Amino acid sequence: MDWCLYVVGVGAEGTTAEPPQLRLGPVAGVDYPGTWQAFESWFADDEACRGYLERLRWPEGFCCPACASTRAWRTRPGLWKCASCHRKTSVTARTIFHRSRLPLRTWFAACWFVCSQKNGVSALGLQRVLGLGSYESAWAMMHKLRRAMVRPDRGPLSGLVEVDETFVGAREHAGHKARRDTKAAVAIAVEILQPKGFGRVRLRYLEPLSAVTVRGFISDVVAVGSTVRTDGWNGYPPITKAGYRHVAVNVMHSTEPAHIGLPGVHRVASLLKRWLEGTLQSGFDHSHLDYYLDEFTFRFNRRTSRRRGLLFYRLLEQAVRTEPHPRQQFLARNLPHPPKRRRHNM
Ligand SMILES: [Zn+2]
Repeated sequence: MDWCLYVVGVGAEGTTAEPPQLRLGPVAGVDYPGTWQAFESWFADDEACRGYLERLRWPEGFCCPACASTRAWRTRPGLWKCASCHRKTSVTARTIFHRSRLPLRTWFAACWFVCSQKNGVSALGLQRVLGLGSYESAWAMMHKLRRAMVRPDRGPLSGLVEVDETFVGAREHAGHKARRDTKAAVAIAVEILQPKGFGRVRLRYLEPLSAVTVRGFISDVVAVGSTVRTDGWNGYPPITKAGYRHVAVNVMHSTEPAHIGLPGVHRVASLLKRWLEGTLQSGFDHSHLDYYLDEFTFRFNRRTSRRRGLLFYRLLEQAVRTEPHPRQQFLARNLPHPPKRRRHNM
């Protein structure tokens, strides 16, 4: 066994001689693989994957999660023993990879596929491309990754923010619209940039849909002092008491269509519906909706990034900061059946 004293900042594996303040951000070929060919050579086995996770989880060097000591021994790749409290810590402990039976390399490949496809992959697509034995494994894997797509410390939206609700879920058949009570209400908030364009988005499944849940959504995702633009519903005006400026656009009585009065939420709602329909052809249980909204948010907020490898880097970076979600937690809910007929090549 290779026992060596590891002290933070002194010859730390994965750190560079360059001072961190000079780095402008993660770089392809240095911090993450830029292509699938590079991916294969970077992550030839699980040991290489563990080494990479160490760099992401402890960029300043190992820190014991029990006592915060930075003095530790590396007993083998990915496993550390604290010099103060003697506790052993695996690099995958308390991350989404915790106690997974799948090889880390399979997880890495899943992250790569999820990020390299513009619209993502379905569980069935992932099962096929990774050669997984069961649809259930692929489905649970996708849900764990979706959990890692949202950073708990992300900042609130600010400036001019449009807010509205839309209904998603049930299919609409030719001739008659799906009833609203079979659909799920989703609140949308999107930053409007000047002179044009949209910034970041936040989404939430509202159950129930009420003035209280809508205002709770606004206060959770929009910074106080921002201007909130909505339709003329009377549930919104009380937000001014919470420190927001409020602009109501009366789309009901306007001669202009809704997409002119509230262009941001209208655009996001239509993209969301199209994405849900394309990715989840078999429909979904409302209890899983928040996971899908997380994935849509991750993709929308990074839509301009041309470097798919950077998305892979960001996803793994968040994966090692995301608490484990035991498989049973997902499977206790209704696991959907794999879609029988594929309309999309995903
Ligand atoms: Zn310790």
